[in-house]
Amino acid sequence: MAPTPATVEQITARLADLRQRIDAARAPDQAVAIVAVTKTFGPELVANAVAAGLTALGENYAQELGAKAEELRERFPDVADRVRWHFIGGLQSNKIKMLGDLVDLWQTIDRRSLVKELAKRQPGAGMLIQVNTTDESQKSGCAPADVAALVDDASQRGLDVRGLMTIGPTDGSDPRPAFDLLRRLGEEHGLIELSMGMSGDYEIAVRHGATMVRIGSDLFGPRDRV
Ligand SMILES: *Cc1c(COP(=O)(O)O)cnc(C)c1O
Repeated sequence: MAPTPATVEQITARLADLRQRIDAARAPDQAVAIVAVTKTFGPELVANAVAAGLTALGENYAQELGAKAEELRERFPDVADRVRWHFIGGLQSNKIKMLGDLVDLWQTIDRRSLVKELAKRQPGAGMLIQVNTTDESQKSGCAPADVAALVDDASQRGLDVRGLMTIGPTDGSDPRPAFDLLRRLGEEHGLIELSMGMSGDYEIAVRHGATMVRIGSDLFGPRDRV
C-alpha cells in the first residue's frame, strides 16, 4: 500500500521550510528552482502539490508518468494544465518516443542515441545533459570528458541545451567534489542550469551553485519504493 498522500497544508509548511533553507544557502544573485519529485505517488498527491504552489514536477519512470498524466487529465484537468513535467529517470529511446511532448524538460540525456531520438521526436526540446560526476560505474550520466561532444551534437540538432544535471554520491561520501565538478563543467560550456541536490544534500548543492534542486521526500514524506 502506498502511503497516504501528504495534504496541501503539510506540503505548504514543508515548502516554506525548504525555501527558507535554500534562501539561507544561496548567493544573493542565485535563483534556485524547485522540482518536486512525485514518483510513486498518485494523482491526489500531484493535485495537492500543485495547490501548494509546486508546478515543476519530476518523474523517473515513463510508464508511471504516462499513466499519471492521463489520470490527471481525467480527474483533475485544471491541475493537468498547470503541471510541467521533468523527466529525471534512466532513459531509453523508446521511452522518449512513448512520452513525446508530455515532458517539459528532459534532465537525463547522457548519450548520442538519446540526443538523436529526442531531436527526431520533439524538435527543439528543452534538455539537460546528465553527467556522472562520481565515477560510480552503475550510475547513469556521461563522463565529464564527453560533455563537450554531447552539447555540440544536441545544439547542432536544434535541441535547447539548458544545462547539466547530476546525482551526488550514493555511498554517503562528501558530495562537494561532484557538485563543484558540475559547476566547473557548466562554466566551461557556458551552460546556466545546474540541476543538483536532493532531500539529503540540497543545501550543500545550493552552496555549490545549484540552480535547480530535485526534492521528493522532504516535501511529500517517505516513499514505499525508490
Ligand atoms: C528520487 C529522486 C530524487 C528525489 O529524491 P529525494 O531524496 O526523495 O528528495 C531526485 N533526483 C532523482 C534523480 C531521483 O531519482
